Amino acid sequence: MKKSFVFQIMIFIAWMAIVPISIYAIYRAFPPTSDIDWILLIGLTVLSLVTAYWPANINGVPYFLIQWVSLAVFLRFGLFIEIIVFQISMIPFIYRLKLTRKELYRMPWNSIMFLLVSFISGFAFLKFGGGIHTHDIKEIISYGLLYILVNITANHILLKVSGLLLGNRTPFFTMEDAWDYLTCCFVLPMGITLYILGEHVGVISIILLGIPFYIAIKLLQLYGTSSKLNKELSNAAHFGHQLADRLSSEETLDLFMDRVPKMVSVDGLYMIDRRKQTGTLSVLRAYENGKMILKNVTHKELSTGLLTEILTTETKFGVNKRSELDLCSNDYLPSDTQSVLALPLLREKSMEGILLLTSKKKNFFKDYQIKILELICSYFIVSLEKARYVENAKHSSERCGLTGLFNYRYFDQHLTDMMGDLNNRNISNLSLIMLDIDYFKRINDNYGHQSGNDILCGIADLLRREVASRGTIARYGGEEFVVLLPNYSKKAALKIAEHLRKTIEQQPFEISPDLIEDVSHLVVHVTASIGVSSAYEDTDDGPSLLRNADQAMYIGAKQKGRNRVAGF
Ligand code: GH3
Ligand code: MG
Ligand code: MG
Repeated sequence: MKKSFVFQIMIFIAWMAIVPISIYAIYRAFPPTSDIDWILLIGLTVLSLVTAYWPANINGVPYFLIQWVSLAVFLRFGLFIEIIVFQISMIPFIYRLKLTRKELYRMPWNSIMFLLVSFISGFAFLKFGGGIHTHDIKEIISYGLLYILVNITANHILLKVSGLLLGNRTPFFTMEDAWDYLTCCFVLPMGITLYILGEHVGVISIILLGIPFYIAIKLLQLYGTSSKLNKELSNAAHFGHQLADRLSSEETLDLFMDRVPKMVSVDGLYMIDRRKQTGTLSVLRAYENGKMILKNVTHKELSTGLLTEILTTETKFGVNKRSELDLCSNDYLPSDTQSVLALPLLREKSMEGILLLTSKKKNFFKDYQIKILELICSYFIVSLEKARYVENAKHSSERCGLTGLFNYRYFDQHLTDMMGDLNNRNISNLSLIMLDIDYFKRINDNYGHQSGNDILCGIADLLRREVASRGTIARYGGEEFVVLLPNYSKKAALKIAEHLRKTIEQQPFEISPDLIEDVSHLVVHVTASIGVSSAYEDTDDGPSLLRNADQAMYIGAKQKGRNRVAGF
């Protein structure tokens, strides 16, 4: 959680006002025992520091089992010394948090929290009659239990309150909290044993108990890492299947950009495309601080900064802290970036693009995470290729290869769908224009087939331009085109048809006649005959709408002299 500068300063001031005075007051109220075994105390402090540095990791959540040392220190030396040792142990704990500059307030904040936890548990112990440096085993066990339970509860409640105050609300009781209470079964006997053994063998107790303790922690950690890895691998496999299910490249990209930040909680994610022929780099999608953004970065900026290396080696590349990163030559990255990971998106050994991930935390990317990311990237690139293949196949099955307009197969289906929309009252009218070029055979005969093709393409462009988003255009036959106009009455469709006829009549078409020697370019004019039919004015089914428009075109336009518009 980031906080403003003023807030941070206020926390530091509060810390300076509260912590030293409180510690002094506690020293006066609960002075340490007079018989301090300094070697034992130093040994316990080291043990406490080490415990804070290597938390047990269960399901990816770190558990600081420091209470076992706290209990032994408290039982032996009392509240004041326990507070001092606990405060010192905060240093490795804070270090492990890898705070950014804007999170520095958590140092004094945690110090105050730790002080409160120590004080509340020690105070409860003493208030209920527990004695320091006692040898009564019943008292040690019962008050030790009280101490640990109060300690965990105080820590739990203060964490929730702190979450509320800092605007980082979590549920009151989670699985992690339950685990915290469960650790009581471990830290209580260990803490008591550490205290009693310390009484008998002094500092040797730290070695005798510290080693088995660390072996247990290490085993827990190994268990934690492997179960986390298992979980992430199965997530990655599930994600791979979801990617493979997408049928368009846009959807594949969107899904990838949506899910990856959630899987690895990065602060920045950039999908960089590399053009096959030119090698030009561009940012396809960018995600920064929780949302997708538009990011315009030039090829020059992308190819000169930190990506230079990956472009030459085509192997992954990472940076772990800002000092290793020259942000001047990478100023498209957020200025608080610390860790960067660049992964090549490889297909058949050629690099199609680069996935760039950033974090505000130092040493953010762990080895196992990088491996999972590489796996996800390979799923992604295969899924993208499949989606592109499907898109191309779909495109060519629906389009005319010459003009790029829809073909009759697509149009027939589209007409059926639109009739459905009309019947369901999603649209108010449906009109169809059929257009046939007049004396087109002559164009072929006089100037050659290629010139005929040029004119067909010219007419297609004209229709695209003039109809625009108002309707769907298709090449229905050789030199026949159809336009389907939803929400256009017959009158309105006739008006559009007349406009098209006039525009075609006036448009000069440039051709390169093969059949005329010495003439490389020629301008010709063509005309078209057009028929219009509408639903429900003329019919209530799709095939008749087509037939009617065709009939109107032949009888009303062609037979009456061509270059005219006729309604059914
Ligand atoms: P009308 O005014 O009666 O429509 O006369 P027309 O010559 O346009 O009609 P007709 O049906 O006699 O001829 C259509 C011509 O269109 C015949 C065919 O060679 C030509 N054609 C059809 N498809 C293509 C094509 O893809 N490219 C070219 N260049 N010509 C084509
Ligand atoms: Mg014709
Ligand atoms: Mg024809």
